[in-house]
Amino acid sequence: MERSNSPRSPLEAAAGAAGSHTVDAFELLGDETRLAILLALWEAYDPRAEDNSVSFSTLYDRVNVRDSGTFTYHLDKLVGHFVEETGDGYRLRNSGRKIVRAVIAGAGLEERRLPPTEIPRSCHTCGAPVELSYEDERLYQICTECEGNIGPGSTENAPVGTLVVYDDFNPAGLANRSPGEVFVAGTIEYHRALTLLIRGVCPECSGAVEESLHICESHDAPSGELCPACGTGNEFRVSYVCSVCKNGGSYPAWAAVYDHPAVVAFYYEHGFDMTFGLDDPEDCGRLWDLLATGFEKEQTLVSEDPVRLRVSVLGDDRTLHLTLDGALNVTDVTESKD
Ligand SMILES: [Zn+2]
Ligand SMILES: [Zn+2]
Ligand SMILES: [Zn+2]
Repeated sequence: MERSNSPRSPLEAAAGAAGSHTVDAFELLGDETRLAILLALWEAYDPRAEDNSVSFSTLYDRVNVRDSGTFTYHLDKLVGHFVEETGDGYRLRNSGRKIVRAVIAGAGLEERRLPPTEIPRSCHTCGAPVELSYEDERLYQICTECEGNIGPGSTENAPVGTLVVYDDFNPAGLANRSPGEVFVAGTIEYHRALTLLIRGVCPECSGAVEESLHICESHDAPSGELCPACGTGNEFRVSYVCSVCKNGGSYPAWAAVYDHPAVVAFYYEHGFDMTFGLDDPEDCGRLWDLLATGFEKEQTLVSEDPVRLRVSVLGDDRTLHLTLDGALNVTDVTESKD
């Protein structure tokens, strides 16, 4: 007699909100032969080729399984999910390429580190040199003197002195790059991810992103120190969380408008181009200096109900003011002469 209440598998029990398709995907991948098939198809994959199909016999030889019946069984399981069957054989589907790419980008087994290395920018709070380091799969900008902007007590759980956390920078990003190039590459990726999050698109999975403004009610962060209540130097912060894959991050509230057209134009009028090459860490450092000194100290709550937050961007002789509502949409842009 079948039990109507059969015990759930560990995968089903653990999945929760991730749902049954996630359980199916993990089950499909839970076998060495199937992983070997994905790797062999990846090895044969050439992004410039017209057709990346691998014939059954070539694939069978590469995977090195003794019994062709077993091989066929596992290959059939993957077809229609991570692998596509074509007239000429088999090739990875986009989802199959993403699985292999995630492993290649992170590696997981080889610990990559970048020892603290000075970069061409100074701390906006205390003026001390700033160092770049890579630790525990995260890239950090860390002030060498003060407590920085985000600390161990924040949701980002960053080391003392952290000014910026690059959450998404993969270990692969360190390969064949100088520290200066890592700094620029990390910054380009950081801003690209932020641009997507601001517009509600998850940079990892394309899913819908939820945005929320956090106001620290008892904020107390003297210059160069972190607030004990929120663990950051920002009274106003915005957090983004993907409703599908839980990717996201927390930023000073001004980050929500860092690439608003009025801001980009304002910087451009002040002689700064926000595009820079991998070989240009000086301009990249200047961008961070501008963002930090231009925005960081000038966030004011002008109204609580409805919420209106004013963010100011300081130029040489003029200041740009943007008014944001509680959903961080820009409701007003003005300029004032200093
Ligand atoms: Zn500092
Ligand atoms: Zn606080
Ligand atoms: Zn996502």
